[in-house]
Amino acid sequence: MADSTALPLVLLAEQFAKLPGIGMKTAQRLAYHVMSMTDEETQAFADALINAHSTIKECAVCCNLTDSEKCPVCGDIRRDGSTVCVVETPKDVSAFERTGEYKGVYHVLHGLISPLDGVGPEMIRIKQLLDRLKDGSVQEVIMATNPTVEGEATAMYISKLLKPMGIKVTRLAFGIPVGGTLEFADEVTLFRALENRNEI
Ligand SMILES: [Zn+2]
Repeated sequence: MADSTALPLVLLAEQFAKLPGIGMKTAQRLAYHVMSMTDEETQAFADALINAHSTIKECAVCCNLTDSEKCPVCGDIRRDGSTVCVVETPKDVSAFERTGEYKGVYHVLHGLISPLDGVGPEMIRIKQLLDRLKDGSVQEVIMATNPTVEGEATAMYISKLLKPMGIKVTRLAFGIPVGGTLEFADEVTLFRALENRNEI
């Protein structure tokens, strides 16, 4: 923003620019847009931001984001708790839920192992996964991380930990192009990938 721009507007634009997919131009447009909002609208916007951030936490079982102790999937007794689909992000859970075909439960890693980015196994929710597998009720773990280098490496790392526990580990059969992401796969592709999964 130009030097003539009032400092609070610059600071607001800088905050918007921290959001994924928002460049500085868009951030500036959003900041100016806020100036055209009423006091009530601005307050509601700020409240929603603070409220979401303070009430949303990780599900005690699967680490998906939820506003209660257990997420709706883990709290649903009709779901098959013996099959756990391991994904990178909460958005991936939404993608699988959209297929309407998956009846098992999930585990959200909140990241992938990536030595280049300094992300080690202890920085994602692998320990929580191992803890929930201890009681022996889980028979199959589906590694549904994206078909990227990090996604494959994370799937292999976890499968090596699970094999000695006698748990069947499978990997999605990717009709999803290598480097593509689950988030943007259509329901049919995702369902096929799930249905044709292979043991690893
Ligand atoms: Zn859950």
